[in-house]
Amino acid sequence: MNFDAFFEQRLSGLREAGNYRVFADLERHAGGFPRATRHLPDGSTQEVTVWCSNDYLGMGQNPLVTSAMKDTIDLCGAGAGGTRNISGTNHYHVLLERELADLHGKESALIFTSGYVSNWAALGTLLGNIPGIIVYSDALNHASMIEGIRHSRCIKRVFRHNDAADLRRLMAMDDPAAPKLVAFESVYSMDGDISPISDICDVADEFGAMTYLDEVHAVGMYGPRGGGIAEREGIMHRLSVIEGTLGKAFGVMGGYITGSAVLCDFIRSFASGFIFTTALPPALAAGATASIKHLKASQLERRRHQDVVAKVRKALDAHGIPHMPNPSHIVPVMVGNAAKCKWISDVMMERHGIYVQPINYPTVPVKTERLRITPTPLHTEADIAKLSMALSELWSQCALARAVA
Ligand SMILES: *Cc1c(COP(=O)(O)O)cnc(C)c1O
Repeated sequence: MNFDAFFEQRLSGLREAGNYRVFADLERHAGGFPRATRHLPDGSTQEVTVWCSNDYLGMGQNPLVTSAMKDTIDLCGAGAGGTRNISGTNHYHVLLERELADLHGKESALIFTSGYVSNWAALGTLLGNIPGIIVYSDALNHASMIEGIRHSRCIKRVFRHNDAADLRRLMAMDDPAAPKLVAFESVYSMDGDISPISDICDVADEFGAMTYLDEVHAVGMYGPRGGGIAEREGIMHRLSVIEGTLGKAFGVMGGYITGSAVLCDFIRSFASGFIFTTALPPALAAGATASIKHLKASQLERRRHQDVVAKVRKALDAHGIPHMPNPSHIVPVMVGNAAKCKWISDVMMERHGIYVQPINYPTVPVKTERLRITPTPLHTEADIAKLSMALSELWSQCALARAVA
């Protein structure tokens, strides 16, 4: 077989469908976020303002975080030096796990190399080891949860997005004696909508099911201590597992689960994706701990963030730029056409130095193509004005419909 020809053929398929991904080559500026230098293939550079970062609060450049990381490199060196079991457990991992358990009001926490790995490993291990278990998965769950479920090979039911009644209908059809787990998210990242956590927990309780909540887009951002939507609603104790990332609002890298001591011990002891991989660098653990500690105490970043989100929506409204209303910090500007979405994004970058990645099929359904804007506390009034004016100009050039006020 000509392997290269095969790869090339599949890639041109992606290109023809408009789904071929091109990465923006960015050099982020600590202290200057959300600015970055973009490196172009011809060797030239361009200064850009990033409007699509998941470093939602700019914690990636917070001096408390960066100095904790630098200090820890000087103290402990670069890497962990092993898997958790074989010499790789550093004291900073232990401190981070304590911090996370406390954040979510749980007995224990377990860190992984990413949020993706935490979902894949935790769901794969729970569902793969409990005989006869049935999983109920929200239709819009993240790829990492879907992969974990698939890996476990357990029986899977998909309930309609955010629909507790549909979940109930499905659960009622199954053997009451079968063990069950409900897997869902709090903030869904493409539409920015928020799940009815308490209603879903009611249904899960009725059928004696475990609950597994991905709070990746909410940790650090919601709740009085940044514990997420479940903290804000005072229902963290109703979840068997709360999963999160250290790579988005906390600004560093890594993922985790929190839950009862015995559940975490079970995953620690049976999850291949936890056991057979080098532990996170101690500096990452120390940086994440500093970030979590800070956001537990400080409301400033969360308040400023919500304030900027409101200003962005208002500016878009003033120009009639349609955006999906939702109760979160994610502002999906709806283009509804893949080619136009990509074109607007390209021109925003080239002409205006504004970087917003287009989100097209298969990430979102056809005809709902969008620019997913993520404001941060560090975007200024001038940034917002520039963004909305650039969008307005391109909206006219594309002959796209305006929203009516
Ligand atoms: C980004 C994301 C993850 C993965 O987290 P990483 O730390 O980036 O690997 C998991 N779940 C959801 C819903 C996400 O959006």
